[in-house]
Amino acid sequence: MAAKRIVTIDGPSGAGKSTISRLLAARLGYAYLDTGAMYRAVGFKIEQTGANCDDRQALGRLLDSMDLRFKAVGGETRVILDQEDVSEAIRTPAMSMMASRVSAIPVVREKLTFMQREIGGRGGVVAEGRDMGTVVFPEAAWKFFLDATPEERSRRRVLQLKEQGRPVDEKETLAQIIERDRADSSRALAPLQPAPDAVIIDSSQMTIDEVVAFMAARIARA
Ligand code: C5P
Repeated sequence: MAAKRIVTIDGPSGAGKSTISRLLAARLGYAYLDTGAMYRAVGFKIEQTGANCDDRQALGRLLDSMDLRFKAVGGETRVILDQEDVSEAIRTPAMSMMASRVSAIPVVREKLTFMQREIGGRGGVVAEGRDMGTVVFPEAAWKFFLDATPEERSRRRVLQLKEQGRPVDEKETLAQIIERDRADSSRALAPLQPAPDAVIIDSSQMTIDEVVAFMAARIARA
């Protein structure tokens, strides 16, 4: 299959994927696809409705009835679920864990993979997540796997939560990051892992601008 104008950025939580993907998309003039937000929205919906995660058919119906959209508002991308703006509500630590839990359910992955290909399949997109280069867009022209040490990723997440004025427990944040990565990496379906043809970047000692510049240079060279 011919490589498409798709950039995939996979990696564990807190590696800086969102910020970097957004900046890189703006630089390339591409759309930005935040697939973690989609898993978070599904987790939010399942929690809100008290749906039974073991009932595959009911879950399928729930997912089909769900109206999930991204909306650009003043340079920001808002997440709209059933006409409600859930952008902040899906970003709590509890929703991070919930998203990770529901992301291991086959019908959830099937549905979101389908939606992600519909949104990004024509190209001109920077897609960020855990399985973008391996499962959703294996034909992508440029694949990156962004990593950093758990301590550094936890430090960044703590800073981010503090900036948002949210309560934060530093030990608990590190423990949750380690647990979420363990669950995401060890699940049977679309586990977190670099695609064989991905460029692996350890951002522990790099600034955001350095990572974006590195990626843009790789893309320009190809
Ligand atoms: O990237 P973010 O932290 O918002 O993702 C939340 C959770 O959604 C992840 O921990 C992971 O379990 C799940 N996810 C996934 N596949 C993706 C994106 C996110 O399984 N492509």
